[in-house]
Amino acid sequence: MNHNNRQNRFMLSENDIPKQWYNINADSPVTPAPVISPQSGAPVTPDELGVLFPMDLILQEISTERYIDIPEPVRELYKLWRPTPLIRAYRFEKALGTPAHIYFKYEGDSPSGSHKFNTALPQAFYNKQAGSKAMTTETGAGQWGSALSMACQFFDMDLEVYMVRASYDQKPYRRFLMETYGAHCFASPSDRTASGRAILAADPDSSGSLGIAISEAVEAAVTSNGTKKYGLGSVLHHVLLHQSVIGEEALKQMDLAGEYPDVVIGCVGGGSNFAGIAFPFLRENLRNGQRTRLLAVEPTATPSLTRGLYDFDYGDTSGMTPIVKMHTLGHDFVPAPIHAGGLRYHGMAPTLCGLYDAGLIEAIAIPQVEVFEAGVLFARSEGILPAPESSHAIRGAVIEALDAKQKGEERVIVFNLSGHGHFDLSAYNAYFNNQLEDYAYPEANVATIKDHLPRVTLPV
Ligand SMILES: *Cc1c(COP(=O)(O)O)cnc(C)c1O
Repeated sequence: MNHNNRQNRFMLSENDIPKQWYNINADSPVTPAPVISPQSGAPVTPDELGVLFPMDLILQEISTERYIDIPEPVRELYKLWRPTPLIRAYRFEKALGTPAHIYFKYEGDSPSGSHKFNTALPQAFYNKQAGSKAMTTETGAGQWGSALSMACQFFDMDLEVYMVRASYDQKPYRRFLMETYGAHCFASPSDRTASGRAILAADPDSSGSLGIAISEAVEAAVTSNGTKKYGLGSVLHHVLLHQSVIGEEALKQMDLAGEYPDVVIGCVGGGSNFAGIAFPFLRENLRNGQRTRLLAVEPTATPSLTRGLYDFDYGDTSGMTPIVKMHTLGHDFVPAPIHAGGLRYHGMAPTLCGLYDAGLIEAIAIPQVEVFEAGVLFARSEGILPAPESSHAIRGAVIEALDAKQKGEERVIVFNLSGHGHFDLSAYNAYFNNQLEDYAYPEANVATIKDHLPRVTLPV
C-alpha cells in the first residue's frame, strides 16, 4: 500500500445523514415478549405508558415498520455533528502487529461527547410536541444526563436529573456540565421521592444505583399530574431505533472504504450503541445474505448478557417500571464500583436479548484492567481518549485483531467508539497507579437471581 496516499477518514456529507431510522423488528425472526404492567400484572396498555412517554415514542416502541421518518427538526439538529467519522485505525493496527483492518465509528464527536445525543434530541422533540413542560431522567456516569440536558435546552424544557450518588460525589464535572446546560441535578437516592426515602431509611449511606435512580425519575414523572414526562437513555426499543443512524452511516462509509466488515463490535450497558451500529448490519445478514458477526462486549462485573437469567424483571429497583423479558442480574443488583458507570445496569435491551437468545448476536465479558490497557494503547496510537465504556469495544477489537494475527487473516473489524473519556481521567489515573481491581460477579449471586424476580403469569 502507498502510505502517503492512504485514506484515514471516510467522510459523508450532510445529505448522507439518514432520513429514516431502521427498525430491526421488521426483519427480526424473534417475536417480542409482552411488556407487563407492574400494577395490573397484565400486558401494559398504551395509556399506562402514556403517563411516562409521549404517544409518538410509545408507537415507535411497538412499531414493526421497517423505516420510520426522522422529523425534519431532529435531522436539522443532527447536522450539528453528523455524519460522524469512520476512521481506519492504521496506527492501532501497527501497534498490534495485526494484518486485520480495524475501523472505528467515532460517536464521541457529538456535542455531549457520546452517542446518547442521537436519542436525546428526538426524545426531547416528541415530548415538546406532545406539550410536556419538563422531563425527568436518571444518569449514572453522566453521559445520558448531559445529552438530555442539552436536548431539553434546545427544545426549551426543564430537566430534572437523578444522578447516582457515587457519581454525584466522585465525578462532579459531569454535573457541572448538566447544570451549565440548564438542568437540575439531585443525588440519588434523594429525599424528593418515596422510592429514595425508602432506600435512605434502610441505608442512609447508600451510594445509589442506576436502578434506584430510575425509580426516582419515574416516580417524579408519575406524580407530576402530567406536567413532566420521563426519558430513558438506553434499553427501550425506541432508543435502539434512534441509534440506527450510527450503523446506516457506517454501511455507507464502509462502501467508501471498499471493504465489508467480518465483525462489528460494540460495548453494551443497556445495549443502545451496540444495537445502533449492529442492527443495520444484521439487516444485511437477514435480508441480503451477508455474514457479519456481531459481537457485544460487557464487563465481567455486570455480565447481564453472558450470565444473567433470560426472564421477566423490572427495569428499576423499586418496581415502578413495566416488567420486561431480558437478560437480568435482578432489579436489586448493586454493581461493583468499576470505572465504566454507563455499563453498570442490571438488565439489557429486550430487543437485543431476543436476538442474542436466537443466536444472531455473540457476547463476551471482560475484566476492567485489560479494558484500560486496550484503551490506553488506543489513545497512544490514535490520539483519541476513549470513555471506559467504549474501551470494552476496543478490547473486543484487540481480541479479534490478535486472533486474526494468529490465523494470518486480513479480518475487517469495525467497532463503535461510543464516547470520549475527557471526564474519566481520574479512572485513567487510578489505572496508572495500579488501583484498579478486576471483579467477576460471584456465582453465588447468579444462582439466586431467580428468587429476586417478580412473578409473572403470561396471558394464554
Ligand atoms: C451510556 C454509555 C454506554 C452504555 O450504554 P448503551 O446503551 O449500552 O450504549 C456506552 N458508552 C458510552 C460512552 C455511554 O455514554
